[in-house]
Amino acid sequence: MPNTTGTASPPTLGVPTRIVILGGGFAGVITTRRLEKLLGARRDVEIVLVSRDNYFLITPLLFEACSGTLELRHCSQPIRPVLQRARFIEATVDRIDLDRRTVSLTVPEGTVQDLAYDHIVLALGAKTNERIIPGSSQAFTFKTIADAIVLRNHLIERFERADVETDPERKRQLLTVVVIGAGLVGTELTGELTAFVDEIVRWYRNIRREDVRFYLIEAGPRILGEVDAPLAAHAANVLTKRGVDIRTQTPVRSIDQGRVTMADQVVEASTIVLSAGIEPNPLVAALPVEKDRHGRIIVDATMRSAARPSVWGLGDCAAIPDPSGKPYPSLAQHAVREAKVLAHNIARVLKGEQPRPFVYSQLGVMAALGHFQAIGRVMGFPLTGFPAWWTWRTYYLFQMPRWSRRIRIMIDWTVALFFRPDIVKVDLAVESRQLERACAAGADAPVRVVSGEATRPRLTERAEPAPMAASPGARSAP
Ligand SMILES: Cc1cc2nc3c(=O)[nH]c(=O)nc-3n(C[C@H](O)[C@H](O)[C@H](O)COP(=O)(O)OP(=O)(O)OC[C@H]3O[C@@H](n4cnc5c(N)ncnc54)[C@H](O)[C@@H]3O)c2cc1C
Repeated sequence: MPNTTGTASPPTLGVPTRIVILGGGFAGVITTRRLEKLLGARRDVEIVLVSRDNYFLITPLLFEACSGTLELRHCSQPIRPVLQRARFIEATVDRIDLDRRTVSLTVPEGTVQDLAYDHIVLALGAKTNERIIPGSSQAFTFKTIADAIVLRNHLIERFERADVETDPERKRQLLTVVVIGAGLVGTELTGELTAFVDEIVRWYRNIRREDVRFYLIEAGPRILGEVDAPLAAHAANVLTKRGVDIRTQTPVRSIDQGRVTMADQVVEASTIVLSAGIEPNPLVAALPVEKDRHGRIIVDATMRSAARPSVWGLGDCAAIPDPSGKPYPSLAQHAVREAKVLAHNIARVLKGEQPRPFVYSQLGVMAALGHFQAIGRVMGFPLTGFPAWWTWRTYYLFQMPRWSRRIRIMIDWTVALFFRPDIVKVDLAVESRQLERACAAGADAPVRVVSGEATRPRLTERAEPAPMAASPGARSAP
């Protein structure tokens, strides 16, 4: 068991102090890298980063990965190459025991391990809030690389189907996209998808651009509540010109398969995406510590729990007060800066010094709208169009820790300036399953095709006739 430096108990001679960071997103990876820099020379300190995936995702680039402007893997960075002496464990955190100071992990083969800590950093992020609207589990989410692949495959699949559909009503439904929630994520996604559709529609002879309908639905009074009203109005104008039907002050009552119900209208849509807010990681929300009404762990301005001095929290799973007492927003630009200060604070505590408060004034907020367009305000200056897009993307490009990835991204962007996105739909069925599907096409009852299942099938398995298998794990495929 490691010692308990920095808390009530003194360090145990010869036993290294273990700092465990949970979560390999912006907050966790940057905290770990900064701790390596600050404590690299100290052999009495062990740094361990645990995360479910062996890469970290640059979420602002996920939209372009979905449309194919960026190669899918290029919006992520493998974690191991960016660490020097910290240990990385790819595992799912199942349980955090704050009294015993242990974390239970399930590693990929399913083995459970307990990891003791002296300091724990909670950087487990958030998940899409599916508790606001009944039926939310019927909608696509947009938070992970898998979400981007699934949505992309699904959308292309709808085009393939609509191209051969003869029933106008059915075709209309196949080509209707509803995005629920017009904050940054919902609006940026709508922008990128409209741009994607503008480009790919030419490959489908029986679909006209005006056949594709987009709805962007927002419960609040306007889209992009995070940016100034004039810039949000500019974004709304850009999207309206691309045919997006923007509905504000329109709370969604429920989502069913293929249907979105509002107070005054029901929209039949084959693609429904939910981006109406986030809630903290359930593991954090379940911890016996003080939390805010959203379930985020409440920490002080130094990002440390007042009741549990060995617990630190940052990023989307923590409520960190600004100088006025209001929590900082859940944004990557904050997570990055919080991480650096938090690492310094742990290093200070290990030296017996006082941690310092995190104070940060936002540089600006921007939203990309597809077709290399964006809007936003940077250091007080409003920006629109290509300059806004370039500024925003350059900032996040440099959040990629290594030049190898940055160069790949720059090549993707350059290529995308001159060529159209492709419409390759990645079928994740292995060869034997594809063969099985082909054989079943001639049989009485088709063989069950489990979307995205990458295991060898049982050849005898038969099931109800299934629709085309294209969208691995697709949740809304009426
Ligand atoms: C599509 C999209 C676009 C965005 N665009 C912007 C933008 O342009 N600008 C901006 O400032 N912000 C943006 N954000 C918000 C930004 O992504 C978050 O604020 C930021 O990622 C928070 O960082 P984090 O490290 O706290 O959480 P995350 O980045 O979510 O990282 C959490 C990590 O914890 C891991 N994890 C979770 N549960 C477990 C578990 N049980 N076991 C092991 N590991 C686990 C996850 O795999 C992940 O690696 C965007 C978000 C999305 C979804």
